Amino acid sequence: MNRSTVIRLIPAGIALAALTALAAILKRGHVPDREGESTMSKSADERPKSYGEEGQAHSASWGYTGDIGPAHWGDLAPEFAVCKTGVSQSPIDLNDAPEVRPHELEFRYAPVPLEIVNNGHTIQVNYSSGSTLIAGGKEYALVQFHFHRLSEHTVSGQPADMELHFVHQDAAGGLAVVGVLLNSGRHNQALEQVWVHMPTEADDKQIVAGTTINAADLLPANLSYFSYMGSLTTPPCSEGVRWFVLRNVVELSPAQLDRFAALYPDNARPVQPLNGRAITYSQASE
Ligand SMILES: [Zn+2]
Repeated sequence: MNRSTVIRLIPAGIALAALTALAAILKRGHVPDREGESTMSKSADERPKSYGEEGQAHSASWGYTGDIGPAHWGDLAPEFAVCKTGVSQSPIDLNDAPEVRPHELEFRYAPVPLEIVNNGHTIQVNYSSGSTLIAGGKEYALVQFHFHRLSEHTVSGQPADMELHFVHQDAAGGLAVVGVLLNSGRHNQALEQVWVHMPTEADDKQIVAGTTINAADLLPANLSYFSYMGSLTTPPCSEGVRWFVLRNVVELSPAQLDRFAALYPDNARPVQPLNGRAITYSQASE
């Protein structure tokens, strides 16, 4: 990766964030747990089905198959309604000839102590403060990353084997998510510590003493990306999320893929209608 590009920093003031529907659920002090779960307290963020208002664990459970699967999310709870009524939902198929826009992403990720949670829907690595994404001059803090299998976004109808989501939040609660597609191939050393210590039971958390992880090591060398406005891909499917899906795919070994699949063989929401939204493409200068 061209680190000089990545760390070419423009001191960016924190732009006044647009209020989004998320502001209502992401109260001040909350950190989004997955895209859709807003929790911060140490006690709350281990609960797999809790999100939303502090201390208010929703009773509706959801999943990826059967009568709690994605086709039913909008009916499982009133606060999930936008999962079926929303018109700017994620993920989508990235197949339209996108408008070309200037590259405006800068990753300012730093190593943090490794903390891994199995939240019952995915494997998530929590991120402490100090790592940011600058998107178009706006600053977002990296709060966690997690995985889906298969990928949620598709390219010309084709899913990748997995997708990594880096979830960021700005000072007003607005979310920006960076998606990285993963395909079976070479061993991925940057993932190894996460994979070795992956909690196998839902609700488990692993704090790996003396081990750090740098999310920057999980990015592809080329940071060209598609961008569009979408939603959380998990209930409550709130809209107003800025999406950046990197064009270049990262590899992991078949054994690494199998290890995740043993826990989560299917935790991907199907693609949603584009409904006329613009997809843009930004080429990294290398
Ligand atoms: Zn996700």
